[in-house]
Amino acid sequence: MADDRVNLLGLPRTELEAFVAERLGAKPFRARQLMKWIYRRGAADFGAMTDLAKDFRAQLEGVSKIVVPEIMSEQRSSDGTIKWLLRMDQVQGIETVYIPEPDRGTLCISSQVGCAMDCSFCSTAQQGFNRNLSVAEIVGQVWLAHRELTAEGMETRTDGSTYGRKITNIVLMGMGEPLANYRNVVPAMRIFMDDLGYDLSRRRVTLSTSGLVPQIYKLAEECNVALAVSLHAPNDELRNELVPINRKHPIEELLKACWHYLNEQNGRSITFEYVMLDGVNDKPEHARQLARLLRGRPAKLNLIPFNIFPGTRYKRSPAAVIVRFRDILNENGVIATIRRTRGDDIDAACGQLAGKVTDRTSVRLGTRLNVAARPSSPVEAG
Ligand code: SAH
Repeated sequence: MADDRVNLLGLPRTELEAFVAERLGAKPFRARQLMKWIYRRGAADFGAMTDLAKDFRAQLEGVSKIVVPEIMSEQRSSDGTIKWLLRMDQVQGIETVYIPEPDRGTLCISSQVGCAMDCSFCSTAQQGFNRNLSVAEIVGQVWLAHRELTAEGMETRTDGSTYGRKITNIVLMGMGEPLANYRNVVPAMRIFMDDLGYDLSRRRVTLSTSGLVPQIYKLAEECNVALAVSLHAPNDELRNELVPINRKHPIEELLKACWHYLNEQNGRSITFEYVMLDGVNDKPEHARQLARLLRGRPAKLNLIPFNIFPGTRYKRSPAAVIVRFRDILNENGVIATIRRTRGDDIDAACGQLAGKVTDRTSVRLGTRLNVAARPSSPVEAG
């Protein structure tokens, strides 16, 4: 018989309240108790929820379940970064990365199995695209990391004091284009910020996009999080080549959407990501062009040294070139920082997440956008 019990993991608060009321005749505070158990205490079975009456737990068991991801493998970097490969079904796997720093712990999560955006310098793009992750699968990554990190217990500082490793920031910078899975990403982010969920402030949840302009406008109305945008080039000609979605939504349109987003949300600034590709987008002239685009705007540039992966034709810009690039930006009034590479010894760095993906796309986005301008594209059906 098919198991039609509802997975409670990832149900937004209002839906969980409606569920316990309609299916179990319970008051809304029961939903709040459930959320605390699931997210704060990391419970995955109703038996552990000791402040709920036994027969209520039995009733719950009959109509619902808590399905969490399963770890296929775990790798640890010498710098403390942890990468998990998580099973999403019989075949597919996605990657989640935890990056510890002295003053914070960042969890980098995936939003899709693979990616359809076809950026030429990204390893995930080479895998192709299989499907969107559900809300439960997106929230499940945080649930799992939280459980694993809690199980590890305390770490000791050099002065002898102890601290628990925890998740203080969540970035949607793993596999996939989050705005192409809008429908599931937004409810997941609400749980990250819900005080009965992971209780993170809106500045500590960052969505990174390759530039799906219509969805940036939609997000501006519906959900308040920090926005990062993968720019990677200072002009359309070069960006068309590196980030094919640019052929549909060119830089000027993208930047307009960004400033609108900040206005609507009262945000401070947008982080623009810029991967440093040797001899491709790293010339002093590119830095000056970038400065002309962003000077006087609420923008920060984050320069990402390119991370190599098997089969890529690109190389990382030399360190001195990256420093010079940053200096030109700073001298021209644009705040730019260089992202420190983390976890590259376990292929956990930006753009290295490959997971296990069965490609189901028939034509690559870059190729398709070259052939004809279409009124609408399936990658945006979010
Ligand atoms: N699809 C979203 C989320 C991915 S975030 C986006 O494009 O923003 C991952 C960040 O790493 C993006 O800025 C991406 O462009 C960048 N990246 C991809 N491949 C990379 C590589 N090989 N080296 C360094 N950064 C890379």
